[in-house]
Amino acid sequence: MTRILLIYTGGTIGMKEDPVIGGLRPFDFDGIKEEVPELKKFNIQIDACTFDPLIDSSDVEPHLWRQLAEMIRDSYASYDGFVILHGTDTMAYSASALSFMFENLSKPVIFTGSQLPIGRPRTDGKENLISAIEIAAATDEAGRAMVPEVCICFNSRLYRGNRSTKVNATGFEAFRSPNYPPLATAGINIDYNLPFILRPEPSNELSINTSLDTRVSILKVHPGITEQVVRDILLGDGSRAVIIETYGSGNAISKDWFIEILKEADRRGKVLLNVTQCLSGNVNMDLYATGMTLKKAGVISGYDITTESALGKLFHLLGCEGDNSVVKKALTNNLRGEISK
Ligand code: ASP
Repeated sequence: MTRILLIYTGGTIGMKEDPVIGGLRPFDFDGIKEEVPELKKFNIQIDACTFDPLIDSSDVEPHLWRQLAEMIRDSYASYDGFVILHGTDTMAYSASALSFMFENLSKPVIFTGSQLPIGRPRTDGKENLISAIEIAAATDEAGRAMVPEVCICFNSRLYRGNRSTKVNATGFEAFRSPNYPPLATAGINIDYNLPFILRPEPSNELSINTSLDTRVSILKVHPGITEQVVRDILLGDGSRAVIIETYGSGNAISKDWFIEILKEADRRGKVLLNVTQCLSGNVNMDLYATGMTLKKAGVISGYDITTESALGKLFHLLGCEGDNSVVKKALTNNLRGEISK
């Protein structure tokens, strides 16, 4: 029988109406098949574990990612797939970070959650949970996992975790991966988009890397940004790297003061990564003069990476490597399918 480990970290999905207290209380995932009887139709053994305390995902910290990575590594041999129930607010950050922490993942790690609690009428939680479990358990004819990746399953779509972003605060279509096609679509059947799914080398064993260096800041350029604000973010002592969220295909302010601060940050050895503010498309610093100036000042292209993924990639690379010049080179590599390169 296929075995799935369900890990409930917190978030809206796990809430249920309590008629006695007249409010919401956490759902008991140990009795999941009684609460969601639809799951009985699958020949899947589901073991559940619940975080204590439960975490609203706005409070997620890298130690939760370490805890998840270690839990999955420690129970890796006993399960065919993993489903992580997580609040939607930072799900794309967590899925991105975990994708970099796992090396040679050969089993599915599927994040899901919901916009309405599972115990509410019209909930999207049941649908999301059932699809996530079915996908985590799915194998091909050779018995290999259909999707050996860290993914987000939401509203009948399966997305690569490190390509995903939350796009809707209230609607059921809360996630999208604007620069990469969905890995699967759930309709009458689940259709897998096989050419787009990563496959690890069969002989390599799973390893996890839990050292993360979070000394990263984000500078979002905008009209009217002041020299002092840019100086504080780019030259502040607290960061080894800065993600610069630029306009369009990677353009920013061409004023001398801005370029001088960038050059100074580069001289200080900071890693400067260019990520577009646009939802889709990619950074190309060879297209416009303003982009070229950034490149000359030492800014590295993030290609079509999301900010969530850029953060996870930087935490991971900085955690593994003390030398920023090595991190700068590694950043341009496609490590886990996070960039189209
Ligand atoms: N604030 C909640 C969380 O992210 C919202 C949700 O679960 O969707 O944990």
